[in-house]
Amino acid sequence: METKEVIIIGGGLSGIMAARTLMKKGVEDILIVEKSRSVGGRLATRRIGEGKADLGAQFFTVRSPELQEDVGKWLEAGWVKRWFGNPYPRYTSPGGMNTLAKQLAVTIPVKLNARVSSIRDGRDGPLEVELENGERILTNHCVVTAPAPQAIQLLTETAQSRVPTISFAPCFVGMFTFDGASRIPSPGHVDEGLPDGVERVVDHNKKGISSTVTVSVYMKGDWSKRNERLEDDAILGEIQEVAESYLEKGSAVTGAQLKRWKYAEAEVVVRTPFVDVGEEGRIILCGDAFLRENDEAGRTRFESAYLSGVSAGDGLAEKLKGI
Ligand SMILES: Cc1cc2nc3c(=O)[nH]c(=O)nc-3n(C[C@H](O)[C@H](O)[C@H](O)COP(=O)(O)OP(=O)(O)OC[C@H]3O[C@@H](n4cnc5c(N)ncnc54)[C@H](O)[C@@H]3O)c2cc1C
Repeated sequence: METKEVIIIGGGLSGIMAARTLMKKGVEDILIVEKSRSVGGRLATRRIGEGKADLGAQFFTVRSPELQEDVGKWLEAGWVKRWFGNPYPRYTSPGGMNTLAKQLAVTIPVKLNARVSSIRDGRDGPLEVELENGERILTNHCVVTAPAPQAIQLLTETAQSRVPTISFAPCFVGMFTFDGASRIPSPGHVDEGLPDGVERVVDHNKKGISSTVTVSVYMKGDWSKRNERLEDDAILGEIQEVAESYLEKGSAVTGAQLKRWKYAEAEVVVRTPFVDVGEEGRIILCGDAFLRENDEAGRTRFESAYLSGVSAGDGLAEKLKGI
């Protein structure tokens, strides 16, 4: 049976940052276990026809010195660019947000297409991480970064009782290819003056990540909740009407896809960057809903995931290495 010092469940930004922080501090025997076929989680970019769209986070802003320092390096490496916004820049990735996740994870050992089904926490001996395919991995420490409602399902009853209340709202995203221009003004992002229920609209061609015109429409949490029971076609039909209102004269919609994010943004967050839920602190929960006490924005976002992952990695490295 495979054995690791640290298993990180989830290869989204918080898992990647926890891994990078541990590795920087000399904890090398680690593995990210990710259920999808790529790292990134809600930093997701999808192809549609010849086009491309960011389905989750569109951009990120920076308030903390830690992220500011990294962003300086990422700008130099060409991993991110300033998209718009002055004096608070919105940064995005020139290849799509998922590319940034892949670049950040390139040196981290990752096991993809591997869904964890449980973490057994016996008092004596290592933790046992069981995958859906029956495979088991033994480990001394687990960092769980899946959104809390998913994370809780992996834990023993005792560990579950230590998880603070966190709830998430869904977000439905419609993605459309146009055979001509859109009326979305440069730089391709609108989040004001939109119809009821619409959070934002993005033209990924104007954003600079798609060679063809690809428009995505992000619905608010309450709209997505209200329409949760509808079939995909019915939801997509309603969202397409919004996209069509942005067609330039003579352009038409040529393709459509729907993404249902079940856990998009936390409705209830906690004011601590990670929590210990295992026996003797062997299972740490972190992720974008775990905010630092002094977090001014007070909501889940790229930066809260980044900081939570860094804090969890720092906390665990201190325990393992005393640094
Ligand atoms: C539609 C949308 C728009 C957004 N827009 C913005 C924005 O413009 N700006 C911004 O700053 N933020 C935005 N966000 C939020 C931002 O994307 C997230 O805060 C951040 O990416 C969360 O990272 P995370 O690592 O905490 O969680 P996730 O990215 O959700 O990562 C968790 C990972 O765990 C994996 N996982 C779950 N269960 C298991 C299991 N059992 N076994 C193995 N793996 C598992 C998942 O597949 C996933 O990869 C947006 C999010 C959405 C959905």
